[in-house]
Amino acid sequence: MTNSCSSCGDNSTCPSAQQPGAACPSAQQAPARDEEQVLKNRLKQIKKKILVLSGKGGVGKSTVAANLALALEKTGRQVGLLDIDIHGPSIPKLLNLENRQLVSSEDGIEPMPLGGLKVMSIGFLLKDPDDALIWRGPMKHGVIKQFLTDVAWGELDFLIVDAPPGTGDEPLAVAQLLGDVDGAIIVTTPQDLAITDVRKSITFCHKLNMPVLGVIENMSGFVCPDCGARHDIFKSGGGETMAERLHVPFLGRIPIDPEIVRSSDSGVPHVHTHAEGASAQAFMQAVRPIIEML
Ligand code: ADP
Repeated sequence: MTNSCSSCGDNSTCPSAQQPGAACPSAQQAPARDEEQVLKNRLKQIKKKILVLSGKGGVGKSTVAANLALALEKTGRQVGLLDIDIHGPSIPKLLNLENRQLVSSEDGIEPMPLGGLKVMSIGFLLKDPDDALIWRGPMKHGVIKQFLTDVAWGELDFLIVDAPPGTGDEPLAVAQLLGDVDGAIIVTTPQDLAITDVRKSITFCHKLNMPVLGVIENMSGFVCPDCGARHDIFKSGGGETMAERLHVPFLGRIPIDPEIVRSSDSGVPHVHTHAEGASAQAFMQAVRPIIEML
């Protein structure tokens, strides 16, 4: 049965019309001034805000965002990870946080803890992981605003935001809401087809006056564990060449590693379980310039 939403009137897509008890993102606009003040206060407590972007899906952006957040947390920083991939949130699965219930405190919704890391994702709000959200731009903006306003992030050294691929509503909304993003990390694979789209992400950052902290070339080469020979399955070096051409820093290459797939599928953070491996080391190396830069 579909209810009707008295706030937005959009009964076909509004979550409050579809699920009893769900909130309408538009309805949240009522006490606008208070909300703006809460948002301001929340953001004041976050020292560095970083967006992880990619031109295409499937290049390993969420894997990089999760492992980057964990690598930063390993260095003793207070870190939050916000997944705003509304149509395909993968952070709960990547970090084995599925089926967990969010809890609220006086200060707001408590982010999901993973060791010292604080995690928030639309995935925590879906009753069924197979649910598909069909939301228009303003509704996405509304929920991203709630993630920043209603979540009790507390004091953070870094907030890492995992944005969906491309340059659509979600990265634009979060960039506008955060206001002064310290920079974006752009994840790509090395082949030309991916690189073409990454340029758009860089143009997006330039248009929003958001610094590009650098490019990470993921899935860059595969070293055969049996014979030790290197195979550049998606080519290699495309990300670095593009970064050079567009005058943005190159942060490093992460090889193709079947262990990353196994870690992701079983929700075990790769940088924790394979800390000495070449790919975990590559993650750590990519993080180092960011810490130094910021
Ligand atoms: P995106 O966020 O860009 O859509 P994901 O982070 O979800 O991509 O990764 C897509 C798939 O690729 C996942 O199965 C992940 O485990 C795998 N993957 C990511 N990086 C690597 C890598 N360096 N080596 C092997 N598999 C990887």
